[in-house]
Amino acid sequence: MEVLTKNAIQILEDRYLMKNNEGVVTETADALFKRVAEYICGCEKKDSAKWSKAFYKVMSELKFLPNSPTLMNAGCDHAQLSACFVLPVEDSLESIFTTLKNAALIHQSGGGTGFNFSAVRPKGDLINSSKGQSSGPVSFMKIYDAATEYVKQGGKRRGANMGILNVDHPDIEEFIMSKSDKKSIENFNLSVGISNAFMKAVEDDSGWQLINPHTQKIARIISAKSLWELMVQEAWKTGDPGLIFIDAINDSNTTPDLGRIQATNPCGEVPLFDNESCNLGSVNLSRITIFKNGKYEIDWHELSRIIHIGIRFLDNVITLNHYPLPEIKISTLHSRRIGLGLMGWAELLILLNIPYASKKALLLAEKLMKFFQRESYDASEKLALERGTFPSWKLSTFGTSNRKMRNATCNSIAPTGTISVIANTSYSIEPLFALAYRRVGILEGKIQTEINAVFIKKMKMLNLWNSPIKKIVLESGNLNGCNNIPRKIKDIFTTGLDIPWKYHLLHQKAFQKYTDNAVSKTINLPEQTSLRDISDIYKTAYKYGLKGITVYRYGSRVGQVLQKCNVT
Ligand code: ADP
Repeated sequence: MEVLTKNAIQILEDRYLMKNNEGVVTETADALFKRVAEYICGCEKKDSAKWSKAFYKVMSELKFLPNSPTLMNAGCDHAQLSACFVLPVEDSLESIFTTLKNAALIHQSGGGTGFNFSAVRPKGDLINSSKGQSSGPVSFMKIYDAATEYVKQGGKRRGANMGILNVDHPDIEEFIMSKSDKKSIENFNLSVGISNAFMKAVEDDSGWQLINPHTQKIARIISAKSLWELMVQEAWKTGDPGLIFIDAINDSNTTPDLGRIQATNPCGEVPLFDNESCNLGSVNLSRITIFKNGKYEIDWHELSRIIHIGIRFLDNVITLNHYPLPEIKISTLHSRRIGLGLMGWAELLILLNIPYASKKALLLAEKLMKFFQRESYDASEKLALERGTFPSWKLSTFGTSNRKMRNATCNSIAPTGTISVIANTSYSIEPLFALAYRRVGILEGKIQTEINAVFIKKMKMLNLWNSPIKKIVLESGNLNGCNNIPRKIKDIFTTGLDIPWKYHLLHQKAFQKYTDNAVSKTINLPEQTSLRDISDIYKTAYKYGLKGITVYRYGSRVGQVLQKCNVT
């Protein structure tokens, strides 16, 4: 069992380890990994003990971790293990409130929910039965938000939601502005569902029709460019709305025979049909290296081994999961979507002496993700031969090209907001936010200042670690003020806000190229970023064929989780 950091132990004690009725922690981290491994090998027909040992080993060595609900709930009664759900919202009070109840049950189990509200008739539209006026999708989103606020997930974590409205809905402006006061709808990420037709209208500076989903009639025609500018302005001000590119999502939908996908989970890494769920896991790249001839290298053999174990683990989760609703069980078992991704990318680059903002990093990102996808598909194919293909395989893009697969999708790059803290590595594919930082939100007031451990290790290897440098890093969170460190070395340690947005996007593009689901990435920007920059970022994301895009300008939200150490 690897030694855990103080922050990791704190998070595990607060939310993951079993407690007795008095709230006293009754298990160790080691016992947690054993509990999860034992449960997840429960569907292994042969060699169950072998798989339990393998699952325990990869988790306790912090080389692979499943998403939080699996760590929290596996082995408990009626355990719900998935992080991601999409629920239907139809144009009726019955549907809206049934889904609200179901979302509350999912939040209670630690899962997050995404919804596309575009079928709901706009504000002011006639309601036939009562002859009254509809209050529109944004008002219902506010009710969902309030409910989320009060279901605090059994004390484990507050719910997370994705709210989507398509760009041609008559209430789109109200939706875009709905978080403008920086305090409303806090439990939602917002995304506008963008179509190729809208992007063309923006480019042509032409009129844009808003269509009433209830009557299918044109409600208004507005300027596409003005609507675009409104999105840009609000994203600059608050970080919301992000965009999801619905056509790009459906172009790579591996099960087009099941219909069009309209929504994603809360952080955007899994596009899903209504009533589908997906479970995630992440490989910790910072632990998949070998030290040879005085240098770190990627251990490709070990990476392949961990990917194969990870895919098997996640496929077992699909079989063993207790689904919150029968319809979710049916849809999820039909396609068996899983999302194996990664964390620790920035730390891997540091170990390899590669600056994040470099062509070399982008080339490696593509090479690595290509390998990652190939190995994931091979693992899923092997499982298909052993256990059978996913039921809707025949009409899927895999079926038509005659490649046997156990899972309709295999890879997602999740934010790894908590599991990367447990694994003590950098978030997902994000650059280091700072070399020293305080994590505020997730530790609920128990703030610890951390200097990144890989950074210290590397500085020691370079014989550059001393107390004046430590002081500068603690004060500023970066090496900019250290005059005696050569540029070439400083570049390896460039942190989030000093990385040009172009490189953030290029990393997202490189990883998306070989990710069948999506990549959750936040384009972290300095405070002085302009509206023009945001517009360029959103347009470039579309041009690159990304499935979604989220920006965050430093300081634009009240309670940001990571703060540079000199700010608190
Ligand atoms: P973790 O590190 O806890 O496993 P991630 O930060 O990688 O989770 O997020 C993965 C997905 O888990 C999100 O896209 C969302 O669907 C779900 N999720 C994350 N945080 C929450 C939360 N607080 N409440 C509910 N679901 C969440």
